[in-house]
Amino acid sequence: MKKNKLKILFVSSEVVPFAKTGGLADVAGSLPQEISRMGHDIRVVMPEYSQIADEYLNQLEHKLHFRTKVGWRDDYVGVNSLENNGVTTYFIDNKNYFDSPTMYEGKDKHIRFSFFCRAVLEMLPKIDFQPDIIHCNDWQTGPLSMMLKENYKIYDFYKDIKTVYTIHNLRYQGIFDKSILEDTLSLHSNHWYSGAIRHDGCINYMKMGINMSDVINTVSKTYAQEIKSPYFGEGLDYTMRMNDDDLYGIVNGIDYDDYNPATDEHIYANYNVNDLTGKRKNKLKLQEQMGLPQCDDIPIIGVVSRLVDQKGLDLISCVIDELLQEDIQFVLLGTGADKYEQRFREIGQLYPNKMAANIKYDAALARKIYAGSDMFLMPSEFEPCGLGQLISLRYGTIPVVRETGGLNDTVQSYNGVTGAGNGFSFTNYNAHDMLYTIQRAIYFYHNQPDVWAKLVKKAMKGDYSWKNSALEYLNLYRKLEAGDKKEVDSFSDREEVDLRV
Ligand code: ADP
Repeated sequence: MKKNKLKILFVSSEVVPFAKTGGLADVAGSLPQEISRMGHDIRVVMPEYSQIADEYLNQLEHKLHFRTKVGWRDDYVGVNSLENNGVTTYFIDNKNYFDSPTMYEGKDKHIRFSFFCRAVLEMLPKIDFQPDIIHCNDWQTGPLSMMLKENYKIYDFYKDIKTVYTIHNLRYQGIFDKSILEDTLSLHSNHWYSGAIRHDGCINYMKMGINMSDVINTVSKTYAQEIKSPYFGEGLDYTMRMNDDDLYGIVNGIDYDDYNPATDEHIYANYNVNDLTGKRKNKLKLQEQMGLPQCDDIPIIGVVSRLVDQKGLDLISCVIDELLQEDIQFVLLGTGADKYEQRFREIGQLYPNKMAANIKYDAALARKIYAGSDMFLMPSEFEPCGLGQLISLRYGTIPVVRETGGLNDTVQSYNGVTGAGNGFSFTNYNAHDMLYTIQRAIYFYHNQPDVWAKLVKKAMKGDYSWKNSALEYLNLYRKLEAGDKKEVDSFSDREEVDLRV
């Protein structure tokens, strides 16, 4: 029977404002709030990392604790909680796993996230929350649907719970040795032979999530198509084709209250679509902070990105000398692979009046770059959705992107004849195609200021919020709740679980 008010548990390994390495955290910090505003009981759960700022850790309320089994281990589970903008977030505490130098690296990461999934499932009856839907995200939560079907569905409390699994990036899969099947996941060896969770001779958490969840989606319609092909499929294209009937694409939005140039406290001056004087102030202040000549007429190209292969940084690196012959300034913020960090640092030193390379993670500076730049460059090789182009549009900064994944779904190249479009884009993964596209944007910036002004206004008036996409998620939840789900075989050989509250 259709319920008016759904109960949803959103499970994520990172959530803004508590812990963030990339776009997943932004999604986990904003989509649940939008769904909550629609009147549903949605709660979030994440690990209690030592990286979470003290201002939040000090506010946590201890709910309860219990013990759980992870393979042969008998582990402590603390459940703490905090309310943030009307949404309760639960934090799973175990210092042994989550007091680690990095969130995702370390020898025990397969145990860490297996523990997290099991702790989340066992927490539910104890906090008296019986969700209709558990919404999992990325490889860190891949084992949850498997565990639910395997070990918990036999209990009344769990039997009607449905699972959604969102792929935010198919490249990161959580690949581990076969030995963890019994040692960490407590699964019968039959699973090894079923192929549902095995890939290239290893256990694959991402594949587990894809095959064992009731419905799967990824974060744009184009990426949902792309990952069915070998080029984008990261070795799992066959798995994606096999799950085609249950694979959806829902583009991400951004939090319009948080990312709002009219109220953003981190930028130098506020502005809105009717009064852009503040945007000019942001530009001049950014130039000052970056040690670049202060000049309103020189277009600033901004990049805020993880410095990893996916992001098209080799294209930038390849033509940067040619690009910097143009009358432009280039402001980059990012951390990641040594090769890119070193390369951009060197270029910054070679062209101190044109290039500012900020090799660090800095959320406040990121906003200053979104607000102070004229163009935002994202030439990704692949991009499941991408948030940078959405944030830049919101701040009236024109995106220059490669047509892939979510970039293809959210940025349309400016058409000089019809006036359609909200940015500039190119098709092939080719450095000179990117360079020509940037040069085209620079041409409009210098020679057709009326066109540029219209583009800026159009960007700021566009709606890239969660409004429409949250409705699409809700439709998916409703579809599942109404019983439209795929059947997955299940075996059970795990010992009884103590479900007492
Ligand atoms: P991905 O999830 O692949 O990293 P997205 O574009 O979906 O890419 O999301 C990236 C998010 O992380 C954006 O909010 C972006 O502003 C932010 N970000 C990336 N690198 C940095 C950095 N060095 N400092 C601050 N914010 C960053």
